[in-house]
This record gives sequence, C-alpha cells and structure tokens, in this order.
Amino acid sequence: METETKQQEIIYRSKLPDIYVPDHLPLHSYCFENISEFSSRPCLINGATGEIHTYADVERISRKVAAGLSKLGIQQTQVIMLLLPNSPEFVFAFLGASYLGATTTTANPFYTHAEISKQAKASNTRLIVTQASYFDKLKDLVHENDVKVVCIDSPPDGCLHFSELTQSDETDIPDVKISPDDVVALPYSSGTTGLPKGVMLTHKGLVTSVAQQVDGENPNLYFSSEDVVLCVLPLFHIYSLNSVLLCGLRVGAAILLMQKFEIVSLMELVQKYKVTIAPFVPPIVLAIAKSPAVDNYDLSSIRTVMSGAAPMGKELEDTVRAKLPNAKLGQGYGMTEAGPVLSMCLAFAKEPFEIKSGSCGTVVRNAEMKIVDPDTGASLPRKQAGEICIRGAQIMKGYLKDPEATERTIDKEGWLHTGDVGYIDDDEELFIVDRLKELIKYKGFQVAPAELEALLLNHPNISDAAVVPMKDDLAGEVPVAFVVKSNGSKITEDDIKQYISKQVVFYKRIGRVFFTETIPKAPSGKILRKDLRAKLAAGFSN
Ligand code: AMP
Repeated sequence: METETKQQEIIYRSKLPDIYVPDHLPLHSYCFENISEFSSRPCLINGATGEIHTYADVERISRKVAAGLSKLGIQQTQVIMLLLPNSPEFVFAFLGASYLGATTTTANPFYTHAEISKQAKASNTRLIVTQASYFDKLKDLVHENDVKVVCIDSPPDGCLHFSELTQSDETDIPDVKISPDDVVALPYSSGTTGLPKGVMLTHKGLVTSVAQQVDGENPNLYFSSEDVVLCVLPLFHIYSLNSVLLCGLRVGAAILLMQKFEIVSLMELVQKYKVTIAPFVPPIVLAIAKSPAVDNYDLSSIRTVMSGAAPMGKELEDTVRAKLPNAKLGQGYGMTEAGPVLSMCLAFAKEPFEIKSGSCGTVVRNAEMKIVDPDTGASLPRKQAGEICIRGAQIMKGYLKDPEATERTIDKEGWLHTGDVGYIDDDEELFIVDRLKELIKYKGFQVAPAELEALLLNHPNISDAAVVPMKDDLAGEVPVAFVVKSNGSKITEDDIKQYISKQVVFYKRIGRVFFTETIPKAPSGKILRKDLRAKLAAGFSN
C-alpha cells in the first residue's frame, strides 16, 4: 500500500496489517515460545536415516550443547563456525550457540581450505563443528590459530566428538544476558560490491524477520505444526536457515532434513513423509519441471512451493504449476543483508491473494520499501523500475569490522540499498528486472567477481582481469572472465580455468575466458561491467 508521501518519498508497505513482534526475546526463546503446544511432535526428521527428534528433544539437546560449548571455553559474543551439510547437529549447534549468546558463522562445507581459512580468520572463529572428511582443510587453523574442531562423526586425531558437547547437564548454561542487538548469525555475503563480508544478523533482526513471515492473524507464509517442511536447501545459506528452519521451529512444523539435492530421493521423501511445504531455488524447480520421474510419485501432499535466491522465469513457473496442480507456487525475494526476506508471495498467506506469474511477492509486514532512481536517488512511482530499497528492524546491523561497506549499503535514513532493480505494480506486487550490483548467482549460490579477479591478478601471466555473469540455462548464471595477458605470455583458457578451479568451490569456477587487449574502466578505475555484459550479449568470443 502506498501509505505515505513524506518528503516526497513514495513508500510501499504490505497489504496486510503490521503485527506485534516480541523482539525483546533472544532468538531461541522466540523460536520455542509456543513449544508447550507441540513438544512431543516431530521437530527434525533426518531424511537419510529416518531418525526423529521431537521438539522437546531439540530444545533439551540444544541446551546441552550450549553448556558443552561453554565447557570448551566458548563465551558470549565469541564465534563458532558450522561447516556442515544439513543435519540435526547443525540445528543443535546453532541453537546451542544462541543460548550462550555466542555467534554462528556458516560456511559451505565444499569450500576450499583457503576459502574456509579466510572466513574463519576474518570472523575470529574459535570452534568449528564439521565432519571428519573436512578436517584436512582445517589443520592450519587448529595449529596456528588454536581453533577447536568438533566432528559429528568419527573424529580424527586432534578433533573432539560431538558427544562431548551433549554430555553436559542442560541446566549448566552460564547465566548470560543477551541483548536484542547482539549478533546471533554471521553469514558471509559480498553484497553489492567487493569481497565477501560478515553480515551481522542480530537476535532482534532474525526474530523480526521470522515474525514478518509466520506470525499474526494472516501470516504471509502460513504454516503450522501440522506441516512437514522440506529442508533440502543448505542451512548454511540464510534462506534455508531463516525461512525453513527458524520459521519451521516457530510454528512447530516437522522439518525434514535432506543432506543434498537429488531429484529421485527428493520425490521419495516427499511421498513418504507427505511433505506439505517445499522451499526451493529455481534449479530445483527446473529439475522437477524436467524430470519424467515426477509422474511416478505422489506429490499431491505439497500445498506450497516457494522459490527464492535467484530469478525464476514466468514460463518455468507456469510449467511447474501444471505439474503440481495442488500446490500454490510463488516466489520470495531475499538478500542476506536484508535479514534476508524483503518480499513474499501473498498466495501463501492464510487468507491468500491472487498473484501474477513472475512476481516476487509483496513487501513483508512491519517494513518499508521504496524504489529509487539509481542516478538521482528520487523515489519512483508504481510501474517504474529502479533500485529496490528496504527499511525495518529485520535488516542487518552492518558488516563485521567494515563501517565503510556498511555505510555504502545502509544510508543515513536506515534504507538498505539492494543493488537489485525492480518495480511495484498496482497490486503491490514486486517484479525484479535487473541487477545493478556485481554479484553473480550460480544456482542461487553467490559468486563475488572481486574474489575471482583478485585470484586472476595474482597470476604472473595475467596483467588485468574482470569477471562478469553469463546467462546459463541450468545455473541461471556462470562467471566468465575477460583477461589481459602479460606481455609475451602464452597462457591459455584451460590454464586459467584450472588455476582458478584449484582455489575455489565448484560453483565459483570460471565457465569461459575471453582474451582482450584492455578492460574497460571509468576514470576512477572502476571496471565498466555493463560494457562487458553488453559485449557478451552481442556474442563476443575469442
Ligand atoms: P543472497 O544474499 O545470497 O540471498 O543473494 C541475494 C540476491 O539474490 C538478491 O539481491 C537478488 O539479486 C537475488 N535474488 C534473491 N531472490 C530473488 C528472486 N526471487 N528473484 C530474483 N533475484 C533474487
């Protein structure tokens, strides 16, 4: 609703009324506030083993883990890292750290040694919970930085077993006073520019974000303790951590954990456990649209298919709607720094609204959105595309130890500038049409061009480089590099691809290398990425 025009600003709000948010509560207390209504119901179902933990189990074990972390020396405000696939231990450790007033930073377990080290050092991680198979990547941190490592399976030498954390009495949690502004989660994101940075999400921010989705009379994202929510998206990404796990815990739903995406096992699990809510990313929606096996399974239990983290085309939406006629399909729009949810499809509301294909939903309750002209900063009326900005208690507190980057992203009036371009139509629906920022999204995973450019520039045979996205049918986008060779160098495309592949997780690998004489730059030295994207669109090739 276009409710206010203050200082000529056009501000959009939800069509639904604002709600009360108990933002004085620490995140774990908020999530378990109504636990007495569903304490004996399933909370976590391990899809791989069938093991079930009830709500009472999850609360008790998480408290034990809090006491165990404390015994291992972890104190309030210190950081632990979770380097795990989706697993019950991920949930226990995240909640355990919250009870203790500690902070959790999450990382992709497939990260290389260098990627993990960088994040662990930047966040001053004191303890890492992981699996034995990743321990080799952590040895330096153990020896040089005195980081403790806890394994959820058989621990190698130098590593503790997760049971050490669960042996303590759950009443042994130190008496900590947690402030709503304390940081509880520290995911890493490159935001609109530069290298990945620690995104400080507070107790109050995450409580507000979850409440914006699932609390109140007519929640945007209606689900309840009767629901079974599929958790196939990795919990190390804030989309899954927030909209799947934390929202699921708040309403008392059963959360079905899948370690990795595989289309047939996904359909088997949906059928077996009668999954009702399926939060996906576009590549999973695409796999469902394309898989002939879909017809062999009963997927009729699914009533909500939510897609987010990357754009989903209208055609794909329509194909999947036809395949899953019992389900409502729609998009949510998130950005780690925004807490992360900015808008949500109102077809998911308890009293649903009609929606249009291709829409990213309507701004969440208790928040303000505006669309600004990127050149003038003026806020724009309906149906005019500009940079999407959001304001509300759910957004990040800032980037860890990076006040300049924080100031570039959150302005003095508290507006977070997303770097995404979109417009709002007459029905309050948001459509994203472009991205101003450098970020590349491979199947919803972040690839920061600056990170790859720094690696390329480290190569003695490369004198300059720029990385931009190239459209890809399966991944959405892949990173490609424009490279200027050093004088006399005979370096090849394959040499460069291999050089990068050794240093980064699979989705940051460079898809193509284009050799060029110069990299187009503004007088300030800033790479003119738009020019390079235009070259690609025009079919540039070596
Ligand atoms: P992340 O911080 O990894 O969640 O990435 C956030 C970015 O993903 C946003 O700023 C958008 O560029 C993109 N994104 C997220 N959801 C959507 C969506 N529904 N449609 C288009 N782009 C999206």
